[in-house]
Amino acid sequence: MEFRDLKKQYQVLKADMDKAVIEVMTECNFINGRQVKELEEKLAAYVGMKHCITCGNGTDALSMMLMAWGIGPGDAVFVPDFTFFASGEVVSFEGATPVFVDVDPDTYNMDPESLEQAILVVEAEGKLKPKVVIPVDLFGLPADYDRINEIAHRHGMKVLEDGAQGFGGLYKGRKACSLGDAATTSFFPAKPLGCYGDGGAIFTNSDKEAEYLRSIAVHGKGSFKYDNVRIGWNSRLDTIQAAILLVKFKAFQEYELEAVNKVASWYTEALGDVVKTPVVPEGYYSSWAQYTIQLDDENQRTEFQRRLKEQGIPTMVYYPKPMHEQTAFKGLKQYVPCPITERLCKTVVSLPLDGYKTYKSCETVGIIKSSILMV
Ligand SMILES: *Cc1c(COP(=O)(O)O)cnc(C)c1O
Repeated sequence: MEFRDLKKQYQVLKADMDKAVIEVMTECNFINGRQVKELEEKLAAYVGMKHCITCGNGTDALSMMLMAWGIGPGDAVFVPDFTFFASGEVVSFEGATPVFVDVDPDTYNMDPESLEQAILVVEAEGKLKPKVVIPVDLFGLPADYDRINEIAHRHGMKVLEDGAQGFGGLYKGRKACSLGDAATTSFFPAKPLGCYGDGGAIFTNSDKEAEYLRSIAVHGKGSFKYDNVRIGWNSRLDTIQAAILLVKFKAFQEYELEAVNKVASWYTEALGDVVKTPVVPEGYYSSWAQYTIQLDDENQRTEFQRRLKEQGIPTMVYYPKPMHEQTAFKGLKQYVPCPITERLCKTVVSLPLDGYKTYKSCETVGIIKSSILMV
């Protein structure tokens, strides 16, 4: 069994996919081809933001948006302690200081109370200027944007939605990647909407920000590529990846998102009474980047993973280490305690999930359930 069955997905999409890729090779429009523009227009319309600027990957997308907001040394950027490294890495990369805040034990997402507490401590200390909050839509579920936006705006800060895992999710009728002042996503192959390599995108409603982002993505270009008005870098989505994404985005909308939700509901039905399953609050819709359960402790998790591996069922631990315990962040001050994150890092485990699993392939649910009961 595959953890995320990209081979099966390709077999299903093969005819359209091969045609789309060969078209790019035939036209030789490898950089900035018409497919890039078409994809940007479709993604912006889907999420409900004015601009979509594609780029090299989800990490560049976050960094570029922080650059657009002029974030740098002396600025505090609030990031959940329980997330993929890149969410905090970009903050340090831009010379600013990440402040890690705890998450909610049910949704795994940024805890608004921990956020507010951290902001107050940073403000009271007076060394750093609170500038940006980066909520992450972890495992496909949007964070609590009504509360987070209210807190951030009340403290004069902007909100950058890290939607790398959240594309396709819904929050109170609004689409993920439209829930902050700006948003980013990633097309890394294993994300809800993935390409066949690296790729990313930024979403904003501001014409000025969009123009700046398009400039820094191509060496700080001015009126044309060889007129360079600022220091930028090179971060673009290849035409071939855009062509692949156009095929995948169609499948994503037509059936994948619904299918992955169905598989998640089979898991929850079967496992809900024996283990802590993911919580999708009223008014939320997840795009299920991961299906993550919580066991009692680290030993139980190790034993559970060992038993499943023996039976050919892969599992993964996202994430084994809190951000504040990462060696790369050694020396950073920890402003608030993050006991939930510390516990989750020892107890969470993600199960195989994608929109191509059938109920039959989910007979493994029975094995998963009995393994939980045995450990
Ligand atoms: C994957 C991921 C990123 C980075 O995206 P890349 O395309 O791999 O650079 C950022 N944030 C989160 C939460 C992610 O899961």
